[in-house]
Amino acid sequence: MLRCERCRRPLRPRPAPAVVRRQCARRPGVAPNGARQGASRARRGMRYARCAAAVQGHACRQERFGRESRAQEPPPRGLRGIRAGADHSRERRPPPAAAVSAPAGTAADEPRFSDVAERADDERRGAVVAALRSALPAGTVLAEDNDVAPYECDGLANFRELPVAVVLPASTREVAAALAVCYRLGVPVVARGAGTGLSGGAMPHASGVVLSLARLNRILDLDPLAGIARVEPGVRNLAISEAAAPFGLYYAPDPSSQIACTIGGNVAENAGGVHCLKYGLTLHNVLRVRGLTIDGEPVEFGSHALDAPGLDLLAVLIGSEGLLAVITEVSVRLLPRPALARVVMASFADVGHAGDAVAAIIAAGLIPAGLEMMDQRATAAVEPFVRAGYDLTAAALLLAESDGTPEEVEVEITHLEQLLREHGASATSVSRTEAERLRFWSGRKNAFPAAGRISPDYYCMDGTIPRKHLGRVLEEIAALEGRLGLRCMNVFHAGDGNLHPLILFDANEPDQWARAERFGAAIVELCVALGGTITGEHGVGIEKLNSMCVQFTAGERAAFFAVKRAFDPPGLLNPGKLIPTLHRCAEYGRMHVHGGALPFADLPRF
Ligand SMILES: Cc1cc2nc3c(=O)[nH]c(=O)nc-3n(C[C@H](O)[C@H](O)[C@H](O)COP(=O)(O)OP(=O)(O)OC[C@H]3O[C@@H](n4cnc5c(N)ncnc54)[C@H](O)[C@@H]3O)c2cc1C
Repeated sequence: MLRCERCRRPLRPRPAPAVVRRQCARRPGVAPNGARQGASRARRGMRYARCAAAVQGHACRQERFGRESRAQEPPPRGLRGIRAGADHSRERRPPPAAAVSAPAGTAADEPRFSDVAERADDERRGAVVAALRSALPAGTVLAEDNDVAPYECDGLANFRELPVAVVLPASTREVAAALAVCYRLGVPVVARGAGTGLSGGAMPHASGVVLSLARLNRILDLDPLAGIARVEPGVRNLAISEAAAPFGLYYAPDPSSQIACTIGGNVAENAGGVHCLKYGLTLHNVLRVRGLTIDGEPVEFGSHALDAPGLDLLAVLIGSEGLLAVITEVSVRLLPRPALARVVMASFADVGHAGDAVAAIIAAGLIPAGLEMMDQRATAAVEPFVRAGYDLTAAALLLAESDGTPEEVEVEITHLEQLLREHGASATSVSRTEAERLRFWSGRKNAFPAAGRISPDYYCMDGTIPRKHLGRVLEEIAALEGRLGLRCMNVFHAGDGNLHPLILFDANEPDQWARAERFGAAIVELCVALGGTITGEHGVGIEKLNSMCVQFTAGERAAFFAVKRAFDPPGLLNPGKLIPTLHRCAEYGRMHVHGGALPFADLPRF
């Protein structure tokens, strides 16, 4: 059988006149494309779809979700905690027979992504699949290339890999059974929610297993008096608010992907959203997380009470991108739905002034429920699509929402309008009805898909800066557009200083993806230089491993590895993601892109 020379997947010739290539899209020098748009995908299909991985799965298809239902299964018994008071009497399982590598001591010893990127040979794959199938109910383990292809990437479709198998457990017991096999055989495991992540966090390892939590989608308990919902990890973010709505409650963090993304993925990424300025990120709205470590130990972090004995490790787990434990249950805080919400929409002739207005609003002591900005390119892309009524002559639009009682909203909206005008707004309008409020937001919420209307491909970046530098960063991004010959549209959670530049490119044009990557790296490094961070909410995954070298010192990265080792001694949970090795950082230091310019750009890099 012909195999792709690079990834060793079976090549499947297409009907004549297709030409069978001997390399797949991952070959050096050809962008495997990060398209999220159909037209581009179709074109890419013509050019690159020659290995079995690509036969079905150019689009990284979302998993299908089951219907959420209430409390069908009791919580796992005998949960043991890392916290004091937990029962630590049970012996840990013996160490795995063939772990990827047992990290020892220093960050330099840690497994690199390439160690687990090698495709396992057929004998090994057969052994892993057989062991999983014998431990789990029929139909729970997918292993054919065509069946696992929909899981080959997350929302960052530039990076793809076919796993050995995909496991679809329907209960915590089945999650534990799958982990036991992987631990015993030393197989890397990637937990997966809905796969909407934008940093490659849920991308599989070629030698590993994807553990999809999508079937664990039950709302186990909803206590309106306590304002707490206890849910399984595969419950969609929006489904929590839908279940709480009859009680006048909702779950506040609202990523734009909330219709699809899961609460497990939200916890793993510490997801944010439009309303997180006032109500906090996932971290601030999750009370307790239960999960399993790679050796099957049940762990529990946080509590339904305001405090609990022992070390508070909840914040360590939230945002840990599947590297420490597999989340099997989440308890979230529910808030009373505000009686009223209204939005002020303000036009600015200059993005710098819009940035200054954001800083002025916060400095005045106001915390709007949402404070978002879109530049002219973004409004031009969304307006014909959603007809939100945006001012297309404005260089930047600000949306500021106020919520609360009608009296509170009236006072705050008046104050917001006044501040916006004082800081250069050329026009303001206030939503008069709920329908109009939703229409104002519809453009912002649909900005990512709308990018597909003006460019074959786009690359969404995510960095944070102190709010006072908003204007400066936008000027630098404009300069980078000129230097790198690519356009960028800017949409962001302005109140949080969380940027989402969407870099527009065409993956079918040679070199454009490489330039888009350099553009993105330059933006996040600018964020670091201005006192910000390389990610606000999309996480590090594999996308920002290099940028981690810029943000954190070798000592800090070694500390991150030490935390990972404490939870996952064999290094099997999502290895090679989030924390770069010393080796990688040394390499990156030598090739460092500064201000969007790569030294010796003419030299080939592999
Ligand atoms: C159009 C669009 C808009 C978006 N808007 C936002 C936004 O406004 N704010 C925002 O924060 N993000 C946003 N995102 C990114 C993404 O939706 C979030 O990161 C979300 O939290 C991912 O959830 P998921 O269920 O899809 O997780 P996945 O993508 O499946 O996984 C993400 C990470 O979590 C880990 N993980 C998943 N489930 C578990 C589990 N049960 N246990 C342990 N680890 C687990 C995975 O290993 C991976 O590292 C957007 C994405 C898209 C495509």
